[in-house]
Order: sequence, then structure tokens, then C-alpha cells
Amino acid sequence: MRQNQEETNAQPLALGRRSLHVVVGPSLCSPAFGGDVVALLRDPMRGSLCSRAAAPAAGVSAPALPVRACWRISGDSRPLDTCYAAAQAAMAYTIKELFFTLQGEGAQSGRASVFLRFTGCNLWSGREEDREKGAGGCARWCDTDFVGTNGVNGGRYEDATALASAARALWDRSVREGRGARPYVVCTGGEPALQLDDALVAALHAHEFEIAVETNGTRALPAAIDWVCVSPKAGAKIVVERGDELKLVYPQGTEDTEPERFEHLSFRHWFVQPMDGRAQKESTLACVELCRARPRWRLSVQTHKLVGIP
Ligand code: SF4
Repeated sequence: MRQNQEETNAQPLALGRRSLHVVVGPSLCSPAFGGDVVALLRDPMRGSLCSRAAAPAAGVSAPALPVRACWRISGDSRPLDTCYAAAQAAMAYTIKELFFTLQGEGAQSGRASVFLRFTGCNLWSGREEDREKGAGGCARWCDTDFVGTNGVNGGRYEDATALASAARALWDRSVREGRGARPYVVCTGGEPALQLDDALVAALHAHEFEIAVETNGTRALPAAIDWVCVSPKAGAKIVVERGDELKLVYPQGTEDTEPERFEHLSFRHWFVQPMDGRAQKESTLACVELCRARPRWRLSVQTHKLVGIP
């Protein structure tokens, strides 16, 4: 029965020189995925690639699935951890920096956090000479350095376990008394969704982390992330239409980033955050005025900059 359903839903997906078929059906990996719907990528050469995805509510669409996940050979009924181990062997992550701090913005402001900054962004190359060419309007004002791996604890981590272990070791070194507080990791960038995948989410969970992501919302996310913060950018259509927190840098000066354009989406917290830079005073006044006029929105300020938290 399921086989028929999968074949009916099959869609081609290009992957390098290979052609896979995406089929969406009930999970074969339910022990770990809690019975979620998953996408199975069929590769005639290797069997099926199982990727947690397909929670349509999380804005994940099958063709946008991360390809790196766990291989399951057709008909193989081994437990998921076997597949997960295979996935770990195939993964590598490039990290700009990994550091311990307090979250400075939004609903989790003030919370002790490991910040995991991925290298790279899909809206700007990060090079000064490309500011006018970025796919998002934020390329003109972005002040985040997400290029390369030269930050604190930056580098190429060979697999999900290595990266999650490094994050957990950093938490353990930094926290004197951890009772009563769950370890918290904020995956950011650049654009973390370019690299953050099911294997890393599983590895971070295995190290007891509560996982937050700060994303521009233009790429589908692994479904098991605990806290999703979307920060929409001018000219960049978002696909993650639900989550915990929508944090809008304001004003961005474009029609598509006016707050009312997002109010039909499903978020629990709504923040406007003044655009940093030369016009910050005017931006702050605009945000204050907006929160007074449309009370669903609240003011978020970058407290780490105000009080000088690194
Ligand atoms: S999405 Fe974020 S990190 Fe990427 S260019 Fe825009 S502001 Fe910078």
C-alpha cells in the first residue's frame, strides 16, 4: 500500500550527475523520527536516501530537501542509528566561529548560549565588491562576517558528531553550574540552512542541546529544530512560514518588508528590530511607532551591543 503511494508521488530530483526520485510517505525510520512523514530519495545506484523533512507545516518542500542524510538500502530494516552512522560519515560542516555568549536579541534575549555560526549565505557572497549584487537587499547593510573559517573555534568539522561534541565541550567549559538549565545552541550565519541538516540536529540533540536557528527563511529547515527565528529580508521570498519568532529588521525601505506583509504567517512572537548603522536613531523611532500602532509587534534591541557582551 505504502509502496504504491510512494511511487505515485515520485518526482525527479537532479543531484549532480545522478537522478534521484523524491517520494514522500510514512517514515521507515520511525524509531528516531517519531513517526513523522519523511522523504525518501531513491537512487538507483544506492537504494534509498531517507531524509527527515516533509513536515509541510514547517515549510519544508520535498524538492528542497537536504540531500545529505542517511542512506537506507531498499528493503533494509536495520535500525535508524545504522543509517545515521552512515550519514555522519558523509558529512562535513564549515564553521566561521563557535563561541559562548548570551543571546542578545528577541524572545530568548539574555539566555546563555553557544553560538554556532556557519560559513556562507545565499543572499550575499560576503565580499564588499558584491554588495550591490546580493540576492537580498540586506547585502547592502549586512554587518555580519560569515566568510571563511577563521573565527574562534572556526574550521571544517568532519561530521555532525565532531561539531556537536565541540559545541557541548564549549558549553561544559563555560558553564560552572548547569543544573536547571538546558544547554542551548543558536545556529546562525550567514544562512545556517545551507548546512544545518538532520544529522547535525540529531547529534546536537544527542548532546542534550535545545536547538535554535536564526534564518532568513528562504531555505527549508530540518523539522526537529526546537526554536525557529525567521528574519525576512528585502527581495528574498521566505518559505519558512511558521516558527517561534519572526524578527524583522526595520525599516528596510521596501514594500515586501513592511510588517503587514507577514502578519498572516504562523509565529508566536513578533519583533521589529531597528536597522543598525548611521540612521539607527530614525530606525528606532520608526520601530517604536510601529509597535504603538500595531501592538502585536514588540521592540527588539541588540542588547549585546548595548552592554558590550562579546
Ligand atoms: S541573510 Fe543575514 S547574513 Fe545573509 S547577507 Fe542578509 S543579513 Fe547578512
